[in-house]
Amino acid sequence: MTARIIDGNALSAKLRGELAAQAAELTVQGEQPCLAVILVGSDPASAVYVRNKVAGCEKAGIKSLKFEYGADAEPAEVLAKIAELNADAGVHGILVQLPLPKHFDEKAVLEAISVEKDVDGFHAENVGRLSQGQEAFVPCTPNGVMEMFKSEGISLRGAEAVVIGRSNIVGKPMAMLLTAAGATVTVCHSATRDLNFHTRRADILVAAIGKPKFVTGDMVKPGAVVIDVGINRLPDGKLCGDVDFESAKDVAGAITPVPGGVGPMTITMLLANTVESARRALRRKG
Ligand code: NDP
Repeated sequence: MTARIIDGNALSAKLRGELAAQAAELTVQGEQPCLAVILVGSDPASAVYVRNKVAGCEKAGIKSLKFEYGADAEPAEVLAKIAELNADAGVHGILVQLPLPKHFDEKAVLEAISVEKDVDGFHAENVGRLSQGQEAFVPCTPNGVMEMFKSEGISLRGAEAVVIGRSNIVGKPMAMLLTAAGATVTVCHSATRDLNFHTRRADILVAAIGKPKFVTGDMVKPGAVVIDVGINRLPDGKLCGDVDFESAKDVAGAITPVPGGVGPMTITMLLANTVESARRALRRKG
């Protein structure tokens, strides 16, 4: 069997078209969605992510503001900028690109962002709201995966879902969303005793580990849906996921490629959260 490829580029293009139309409508109503991005330090991967986020905004008619700081920036300086952006009614989303330099308290920086502008969905209050099924900004990567399930017509109710990885950014919110959608969810991590036992019974397998080609075909249940969140750079410069695509595609029923799978969906959901934040701001104005 060769798996159906879940095309994140195609789905992103469709959704971004819809978001551009919504952004244009909000702009006409005097509420052009606006995302402020803060980049601290000179991590090359972070610079690429920020560039892609800003470019995504521009294409969708979302205003973007970029604030860059050197690796030796004072945390107080960045916190002051966040406070200024929190108070600016023209800004709907604030994103601090992670990771921050070591002398920053990452948690304190994320908590400084107004809950109403936390379009990354990393603020503890948004995480709490998500866990209780209340209106919240959902972290972009797992939210993008949920959009993929929806567009592919993949039924989650009653499905056995296994998430490998328990990070705050991907694994934990992914497990919350799958649980809310009716799946029976197992979260695996580095202390999981028999990983293969779990992965081999997964109807839905999500890999968010950060280890190239870690999940091989023999770990996959025949016909399973395999979602590869991983983005790893190989020594030859090429990107690959946490799943060994070549062996897994012969066993899975559907699979996301890397690149062109989950990656583009993450930025798409960031744009969606920014548009949603602008919509809520307009509603508050009444
Ligand atoms: P983290 O490093 O924060 O988390 C990795 C998780 O994998 C941890 O929970 C860890 O367990 C678990 N893990 C590590 N080794 C093993 C193992 N041998 N067996 C089982 N579990 C293991 O990574 P992130 O969640 O931030 O990212 C995961 C991947 O997704 C990375 O490749 C990252 O680049 C990518 N990513 C992609 C995005 C996209 O847009 N597509 C967005 C964000 C991330 P433990 O907790 O016990 O240490």
